[in-house]
Amino acid sequence: MSADEKQDDVLITGATVLTLDADRQVIPNGAVAVTGGRIAAVGGSDELRGRFPEMETLDASGKAVLPGFINSHTHAVLLVLRGTVEDMSGDAIFGYMTPISFAMTDGERCALARLACLEAIRCGTTTMVEPFRFITGYGAGMAETGMRLWLSENGADALTLKIRHGIYEYDRAFGEEFLERIRAMVDQFHDTHDGRVKCQMAAHAPDVCSPWMLGELNDLARKHNLTRTIHLAQSPGEIKQVRTAHDRTPAEYLRDNDWLGSDVVAAHWTFCTDADIELLAEHGVHMAHCPANSSRRGPHLARIGRIQDAGVNIVLGTDNMTEDMFQAMKIGCIIHRGRRGSEREGGVDPAPQTVLDAVTRNAARALGEEAQIGSLEAGKKADLTILDLNQPNLRPVINLVSNIVHYGSSNAVESVMIDGRFVMRDRKVLSMNEDDVIGEAQEATVAAWHRLKETSGDIDLPAGLRKEGLIQ
Ligand SMILES: [Zn+2]
Repeated sequence: MSADEKQDDVLITGATVLTLDADRQVIPNGAVAVTGGRIAAVGGSDELRGRFPEMETLDASGKAVLPGFINSHTHAVLLVLRGTVEDMSGDAIFGYMTPISFAMTDGERCALARLACLEAIRCGTTTMVEPFRFITGYGAGMAETGMRLWLSENGADALTLKIRHGIYEYDRAFGEEFLERIRAMVDQFHDTHDGRVKCQMAAHAPDVCSPWMLGELNDLARKHNLTRTIHLAQSPGEIKQVRTAHDRTPAEYLRDNDWLGSDVVAAHWTFCTDADIELLAEHGVHMAHCPANSSRRGPHLARIGRIQDAGVNIVLGTDNMTEDMFQAMKIGCIIHRGRRGSEREGGVDPAPQTVLDAVTRNAARALGEEAQIGSLEAGKKADLTILDLNQPNLRPVINLVSNIVHYGSSNAVESVMIDGRFVMRDRKVLSMNEDDVIGEAQEATVAAWHRLKETSGDIDLPAGLRKEGLIQ
């Protein structure tokens, strides 16, 4: 069955409904009616049973219904590195992530990306924002899982495979290859699957894009009316290269190349100065914060309190090696509060509601889609997650939002609907064969590491791979 064949008209009743609307209304014994892929009504169970007497009913007593999570920044294919670079020192970006992404085949990228969609669904996610490379080779495999997607090909004209050797060389032909793939991606995917799959324009990062490349990407964004995304100030190497090449900070470099605006989501901001933060806030740039991934080798350094105080819309992503948005919320909350504590009186800011907003309504705003997704309101697309509250880690319930942010995990995710279609119901994933996806991803990972070893002899293999017998 393809992802688009059938939508489920259903009346979900008896639930605690977290609407995430402008008033953050919570409806006890609430109901959500879904027809034709959209939310027809949200209200009390008795009222909606009266309005929709013929509709199939799903009894969600003891459960919570909330908007599906929006993962604002991820690289699904990089699950291929899970359990390796998290525990290694050195430059993971150009040392491992980039080389293996080039070494993989389309089939391998597709297998890992589908595993990512599976994990995301099991974690209650309904939208993934995926900037990566070679999207045309695996985007269809992601789309088939029923996931709502924003796909983008991470444009660059620096020869990224040379950077691990300390060489920054800009090459127009290399950049043209990206532009060709971007045009093909937009043709193939933008606004397809009834609008469930869209494209963004992505520049990989300021250090790997010359002014020419940034200009080309801007032209394409304007031509197709696409929002934009970029990694920003994520490593000391990036800061150094932009200073060397342009005598500016990465944020200043983007300003001078017309790459700041309220249509831009920039990821990380790790080494932004106070002046950079003001500049980005002034231009309305959204921040994709990936606190779990950014903190695996030590707490994330971004000046998160200042960014928050500057009024920046902070949204959350998982970045690499995981699709678990519960982890992003939980670790984000801890990191935000910790960073705030070091900058001024800390404690309990951000509130759990702010964190939940960052993965729902505010993430929709960052995509320019707040009229369509991010909250449960009549007329919006039916992207929702049903949590079983009768799990030991979620009881007792006094403040449900606090429980979800601090203690939520995939064990509570019972059903997930995207675009009005259940992709998981009663804990069974319906849009793919789970065993096949897991098996294919394992095989693809072993094959990809073998090829990396053959093609890039200077790259150290993680010790675990040898111990586990995956790589001989
Ligand atoms: Zn990233």
